[in-house]
Amino acid sequence: MSAQKETLGFQTEVKQLLKLMIHSLYSNKEIFLRELISNASDAADKLRFEGLAKPELFENDPELKIRIAFDKDARTVTIADNGIGMSRDEVVSHIGTIAKSGTKSFFEQLSGDEKKDAHLIGQFGVGFYSAFIVADKVTLTTRRAGEAEAVRWESQGEGEYTLESVEKAERGTEIVLHLKEGEDELLNDWKLKGIVRKYSDHISIPIEMKKGSGYSEDGEVVVSDELEAVNSASALWTRSKSDITEEQYQEFYKHVAHDFTDPLAWSHARVEGRQEYTELLYIPSRAPFDLYDRERKQGVKLYVRRVFIMEDTEKLMPHYLRFVRGVIDSNDLPLNVSREILQESKDIDAIRAGCVKKVLGLLEDLSSNQPEKYAAFWKEFGQVLKEGVGEDHANKERIAKLLRFVSTASEGAEPTVSLADYIGRMKEGQDKIYYITADTLAAAKNSPHLEVFKKKGVEVLLLTDRVDEWVTGSLFEFDGKALQSVAKGALDLGALEDEADKEAQKQVEEASKPVVEKVLKALGEQVKEVRATARLTESPACLVAGEHDMSAHLERMLKAAGQKVEGSKPTLEINPEHVLVKKLAGEADEARAADLAQVLYDQALLAEGGKLEDPASFVKRINKLMLELSA
Ligand code: ADP
Ligand code: MG
Repeated sequence: MSAQKETLGFQTEVKQLLKLMIHSLYSNKEIFLRELISNASDAADKLRFEGLAKPELFENDPELKIRIAFDKDARTVTIADNGIGMSRDEVVSHIGTIAKSGTKSFFEQLSGDEKKDAHLIGQFGVGFYSAFIVADKVTLTTRRAGEAEAVRWESQGEGEYTLESVEKAERGTEIVLHLKEGEDELLNDWKLKGIVRKYSDHISIPIEMKKGSGYSEDGEVVVSDELEAVNSASALWTRSKSDITEEQYQEFYKHVAHDFTDPLAWSHARVEGRQEYTELLYIPSRAPFDLYDRERKQGVKLYVRRVFIMEDTEKLMPHYLRFVRGVIDSNDLPLNVSREILQESKDIDAIRAGCVKKVLGLLEDLSSNQPEKYAAFWKEFGQVLKEGVGEDHANKERIAKLLRFVSTASEGAEPTVSLADYIGRMKEGQDKIYYITADTLAAAKNSPHLEVFKKKGVEVLLLTDRVDEWVTGSLFEFDGKALQSVAKGALDLGALEDEADKEAQKQVEEASKPVVEKVLKALGEQVKEVRATARLTESPACLVAGEHDMSAHLERMLKAAGQKVEGSKPTLEINPEHVLVKKLAGEADEARAADLAQVLYDQALLAEGGKLEDPASFVKRINKLMLELSA
């Protein structure tokens, strides 16, 4: 074994994170202890799991625990565990680098603005480096269970660290914090125990400290050599609900989710029946950085009879609920359950189905009883939940009820309209839920397709999220009412139109035949069809897709994503009441009529966010028409 000391540099991101953390978390510095205890507890979980297959890893020291001590003279606080420990390579990769996905985008978002940064770091999680909030030197000595070599890592948190091989009799990790000037209040029995109880009571193994045995003359606690557990030391989810405080639920969340902010809501239940299990599942209050990252590592933790088995991102929760964090503890699964077994397991399917119901129930409860919280949830995770409409057939109806949209009836841009709200406001005779998809809210709101709906006072949902095309491609009806795009198919207002309307429309169509012919002749292959419409009140023309064709918006999205799409030709609808169309109808000069027709088509394409194939010719034509106007 070489005792040579190596000096290594931190990954750039670590340096940035360290600086930022010390700076922005100082006002809440006690959390360093929570983070280090949380890691020690994870290390115990990992040992318990690896020890199932290799009991020799316990090295005749089977009682897992965490120990905290302080030394007034040396001005140090020590946190030690007899968990799994780390090998040399693990120290380098876990402590010298940040493996979390999303790290890069995290740093790209930093501005140097103090307040904003403090909020961002909360989303990122803090972890081991929080030790440097209170320490100007950290010495970590660790030996991985079953290995002979131990390694000591030491750093002042300023860009580099040293590594050397050392002897360590007990397995596990010991962290010594050399306190900064001014942090002496931590060298106090009462203070440290208070912090442990406040943030780490839920930790399932004992956190031991020396027992107080009286007071000295100057009022300080005198400690004996006897140890006591400072925390309750039982897995939080196994306790009964009535014995758990709100704060304890919140602190436990921070531990399981590696999050820094309080959760939005949680569901805790013991389920009996074909499968017996306990679930404690949380909805975070903020979306993590890696919500859309395929490499993301966090999910729900699976325990079997209190033994941590694995953290899973795929099997325990469906993709559209990937933001859920927490614990599922099964009473029935075998302890040797592997990822492969998990993939196939019918028992897991049943547990997952049950947990999905719990989460949906929790969201339903929020939406009806705590609308503000639900709005906060929707803002962070609404887009992800929407994926569920296409993904989870069994729960489609329930998910559809949870959706929120902006509509033409909305005051602002907040998505607060549910499908049930919409149906409640439907006009007499209306039998469809109308919607429009567009790139932006402005484009949706001002679309010519909405004109007739505005005139009749019929509400239209304005869908502008990328995922909305996926939603409308999977959700065809809600509560017996069909969802209908206002930009597809011939206008059919059903009973919203009376017989007189229909008769008038027929006459207009008849009368418009010549102008329709004219436009069709001018546009030729560009369109599938030209027809007169009652859809428009202000605009001269608009484009509509076929009832079963892809919407123009989806086609553009797919093209932008580099996909080859066989677009289908649109139908041009013209408004026979519009002066321009009337002018076109009366235009004797064939070339001029063709120009006008082309401009109508190009404008309609632009109005719905499309791209002209030949913009220069469009400009030329417009200029020509403008000159004629001013002549
Ligand atoms: P996180 O806990 O979110 O993974 P941390 O910064 O807290 O991030 O810890 C980084 C990693 O360092 C942990 O994932 C773990 O692999 C390792 N680690 C930290 N503390 C310990 C410990 N006491 N025992 C074993 N491994 C540890
Ligand atoms: Mg941690």
